[in-house]
Amino acid sequence: MVTKEQILQWLQTFAIVVEENKDYLTELDAAIGDADHGINMERGFKKVVTQLPTVTDKDIASILKMVSMTLISTVGGASGPLYGTLFLRASAVVADKQELSDQDMLAILQAGLDGVVGRGKAQLGDKTMVDALSPAVTVFGQAVAAGENILSAMQKAVAAAEKGMQDTTPMQAKKGRASYLGERSVGHQDPGATSVYLMLQSLLDVIY
Ligand code: ADP
Ligand code: MG
Repeated sequence: MVTKEQILQWLQTFAIVVEENKDYLTELDAAIGDADHGINMERGFKKVVTQLPTVTDKDIASILKMVSMTLISTVGGASGPLYGTLFLRASAVVADKQELSDQDMLAILQAGLDGVVGRGKAQLGDKTMVDALSPAVTVFGQAVAAGENILSAMQKAVAAAEKGMQDTTPMQAKKGRASYLGERSVGHQDPGATSVYLMLQSLLDVIY
C-alpha cells in the first residue's frame, strides 16, 4: 500500500534529489547532448514543489496530473513531454484514489512506461529513459505477481533500473539528441535513464 502522503513525499524527495544531482545530470548530457538535462529536471520539479499545496487535498490522480501539466509547461526539450506523458498516463489509471494497492502501483508504472514508449517510440537498447524504466516495471510486476510486498518489489525494481541505467553506457543512441552523435554516443551513460533511476530510488526511499 502506498498512501497519498507518501506520493507527496516522493515528489518532494525527488525534487531535492534532482537538485543535488543537477550538475551530474547536466554533465552526462554535456557528453552526448546539449548539457541541459539537470537544468530541465530541476526547473520542472522545483515548480512541481511550489504547486504541491494546490493539490494536497485532492486525490492521487489529481496530484499526478498536476505534475504532468507542470512538467509539460515548464520543461523544454525531450524530457519535459516524456516525463509529462509518464505522469499523465499514470494519473489516468488511478482516478479518485487516496491510496494505492500494489496492483495500482504496477498499473501506474506500466502506464507511465507505455506513455513514454508511445510518445518517444524508443525501444529497449536505444539508450533512453526506457532502458531504466522498462526493466524496473518488468521486475516490479514479477515480484508483485509472486506475492512479494511492495518494499521488496520496489527494491528489486530500483536495482533493475540501476542496472538498466549502467547498461546504457555501451549503447549507441538511436533516439533523441544523442542519436545525432552516432557511434560517438557509445561509452557514456544516458542522462534520462539516470534521472529515471533517481526517480524510482526516491520512491523507494519514501516507501521504506
Ligand atoms: P533534450 O534532449 O531535448 O535536451 P533532455 O536533455 O532534458 O532533453 O533529456 C535527454 C534525455 O531524454 C535523454 O538522455 C533520453 O534518456 C531521453 N530521450 C530523448 N529522446 C527520447 C525518446 N524518443 N524516448 C525516450 N527517451 C528519450
Ligand atoms: Mg539535453
